[in-house]
Amino acid sequence: MQVFKFGGASVKNAENIKNATAIISSYTSSELLVVVSAIHKTTNKLEEITQAFVNQDADPFTLLAAVKKDHFDILTQLFDDHNHPIFNEINNNFVEIEWILEEEPQDPYDFLYDQIVSQGELVSSKILAAYAQHIGIPTKWIDARDYIQTDNRYREATVNWDLTEDKIGREIPPILGEKVIITQGFIGSTSENFTTTLGREGSDYSAAIFAAGLNVADITIWKDVPGVLNADPKWFEKTELIPELSYTDAIELTYYGATVIHPKTIKPLQNKNITLNVRSFLNPDQPGTKIRTTNQTLPVPSFIFKVDQILISIQPRDFSFIVEDNLSHIFNLFHQHRIKNNMMHNTAIRFSVVVDNTGENVDSLLADLEKRYKVTVESGLELITIRYYNQETIDRVLVNKEIIRELKDSYTCQMLVKNKDE
Ligand code: ASP
Repeated sequence: MQVFKFGGASVKNAENIKNATAIISSYTSSELLVVVSAIHKTTNKLEEITQAFVNQDADPFTLLAAVKKDHFDILTQLFDDHNHPIFNEINNNFVEIEWILEEEPQDPYDFLYDQIVSQGELVSSKILAAYAQHIGIPTKWIDARDYIQTDNRYREATVNWDLTEDKIGREIPPILGEKVIITQGFIGSTSENFTTTLGREGSDYSAAIFAAGLNVADITIWKDVPGVLNADPKWFEKTELIPELSYTDAIELTYYGATVIHPKTIKPLQNKNITLNVRSFLNPDQPGTKIRTTNQTLPVPSFIFKVDQILISIQPRDFSFIVEDNLSHIFNLFHQHRIKNNMMHNTAIRFSVVVDNTGENVDSLLADLEKRYKVTVESGLELITIRYYNQETIDRVLVNKEIIRELKDSYTCQMLVKNKDE
């Protein structure tokens, strides 16, 4: 029994959908559940539609027409018969969005977001399932919302693991084997049957949830890179593929910002000793990276770069100390505004935090912090993390950079830097 996850890039056009189904067809002898993301960029476009609808500053119907067109263009390339029922089915999903857009935007933003944005995964999974069936792979499409049960923290829902694992473990194995199951990443459902999402890029996490519920031996995430590399090729001309990685190293790397896998994915797999393969859908014969229990540490230092960082320094107005009371208030505000803290540091009278510059969210956090503290902000910074660092690797990344803050433990070095000429 295996779980596969195909991301947005692997289904971004008709050709890639054909490639994904070719990969699926070579594994049909084993029991297989496939989790799929929305087609490349669809989630961003559906986000824009939600914003236009709520802020009433652009026409959401025009934006939706473009998303529909992208999907129908793909469908017409995949199916010669334009009366195939999939055309109607996909249209019905878009009609569900239209129904929402025809009303006044009265519900809270995060709730509306999940009801609209979730359609991206629903349509991509239906297209993949219909095409797989069309080329002769016995396929069953299932709705992930019937299995992944969450609370009602919309846009960042927390999974109710007991209920979810129980449902997956009881209801899915009887249908596996006869057919390949195709389902959605990223989405879940509350106990009242409202759709939730698990946070951006959450489809990897969905695949891990299904894998844990089914107790599979391994799971494969198919990507447009050869596997886990020691740095993002965007930053380094020469990168190295890491053939094997321990769960701990993988958790650390993704925690510090390596974007190859969603950070929440690894822990549920580690708990059940499930091997995670990261492989290239462009070269499916290559083994990629295996993440599993191993004493092997990373063979090479790994680098993670985060640009557009902001350093927020917080001081009590009365120059009292930063103590637990202040800290819990500050952390609560970060949680409420959904701001992830990338690095933190405190002295007796000052607490500093480094965050991504996510615009509006950060502005509203700063406004709330300023009600109680003196706050200073420095933007345009870069956060560099090196796992298994040494002086040579540090020197390599510091050319023309000045260190503003630095944190080191035995394995990981984090440096907040700015360009020297600024
Ligand atoms: N479609 C969602 C996103 O783009 C989830 C995912 O692709 O993992 O964030």
